[in-house]
Amino acid sequence: MNHRIVILGGGYAGAHAASRIARGLRAPDASVTLVNAEPNFVERVRLHQVAAGQDVEPVRLDDLLAGTGVQTRVARVTGLDADAATVFTDRGELEYDTLVYALGSTGRAPEGTFTLSDHGGALRLREHLGSLRPGDPVRVVGGGLTGLEAATEIAESRPDLSVSLATSGRLGSWLAPGARRHVREAFARLGIAVEEGTTVRPGEGEGTTVWCAGFDASSLAADTVLETAEDGRIRVDRTMRSASHPDVYAVGDSAFVRGPGGRACEMRCGMGVPQAWQAANAIVSRLAGRRPSHYPLGYLHQGISLGRRDGVIQFVRWDDRARRGYLKAAAAARYKEAVCRFAIASVRWPSYFPTRRRAVVAAPALRGDEAHA
Ligand SMILES: Cc1cc2nc3c(=O)[nH]c(=O)nc-3n(C[C@H](O)[C@H](O)[C@H](O)COP(=O)(O)OP(=O)(O)OC[C@H]3O[C@@H](n4cnc5c(N)ncnc54)[C@H](O)[C@@H]3O)c2cc1C
Repeated sequence: MNHRIVILGGGYAGAHAASRIARGLRAPDASVTLVNAEPNFVERVRLHQVAAGQDVEPVRLDDLLAGTGVQTRVARVTGLDADAATVFTDRGELEYDTLVYALGSTGRAPEGTFTLSDHGGALRLREHLGSLRPGDPVRVVGGGLTGLEAATEIAESRPDLSVSLATSGRLGSWLAPGARRHVREAFARLGIAVEEGTTVRPGEGEGTTVWCAGFDASSLAADTVLETAEDGRIRVDRTMRSASHPDVYAVGDSAFVRGPGGRACEMRCGMGVPQAWQAANAIVSRLAGRRPSHYPLGYLHQGISLGRRDGVIQFVRWDDRARRGYLKAAAAARYKEAVCRFAIASVRWPSYFPTRRRAVVAAPALRGDEAHA
């Protein structure tokens, strides 16, 4: 028997799921194939650094997953027939017994603006910034985590530019008072003008606009028979299994799952990784004829870099509300750097530890079984 497990997308969620599943099952019983559009693992959480001109060393997916038993395939996924269990790519078709959908999200960048949501977008912005002259305006739209990181990184690397950030709310309004104050001080130090209570419409304003006002789930799922939420993410149960197709799991930015307080989980790497662990545990357990356990899905912190030597780590409650405690300045920058490194290193971890590889004993469960309970 060879149970074919196919994982679409080799970002944080897909790579973590692949390595854990491969380490959990016996090789002759199951094969794990990871399909990704490019050979490198893209560290999305560092794309503002790429845009600001820093050299972020690429990591090959093959190297990252070496020793885990995962087969990587470079191909662009163009479609999915979930009823026929077939994936279509620009390099042919692939059939699966179990699928993990982890194609992530894209930035909502209106025409004429720049986005940081993918590597190509970050490189385009990098090249464009390189062509700007002193005093040229750069406006970052969006006061969320990505907006704060983008504005500060650009202002730090190009102090000659006139950088501003537009937000519909107040700068860092969700942070604890001390953390908020620190963000304001960093913006003042870097000379970033803040436009609060400002809703920017597409096509508005002059100069360079960097759009950091949210992500949309990969659009591919909405064109399939998989059940999706209004925002296009795949509806999954608490084990990350599709609400409509029990042989499909979704993780990361493409998955719609309710977290603490019944709220839909945010599109964050810090949420995608535990989701991947949960999906891997459920897949391995079910194929091994065991009941899957539930991994906790909640929030611990929000890490915000404010350039390379400054930052804020806001510790949060399980439901993402800010606690009083936070870290700031160089200590926060070091903490954030450690979190970014961990997000990659932990893909390799399962191969450093001896794991019990289980035999595949069970056929994939049918619709409506215990997973949906
Ligand atoms: C600048 C920036 C900073 C961020 N900072 C943080 C942070 O500090 N903390 C945090 O928690 N989150 C942060 N995020 C969000 C975080 O990056 C995402 O939530 C995370 O990347 C989602 O992981 P994922 O695996 O679901 O998707 P991704 O990491 O986007 O991976 C998806 C993968 O699928 C591949 N793919 C997509 N479409 C196709 C296709 N059709 N065919 C084949 N392959 C395809 C892509 O190439 C990619 O490898 C940041 C995002 C950005 C842009």
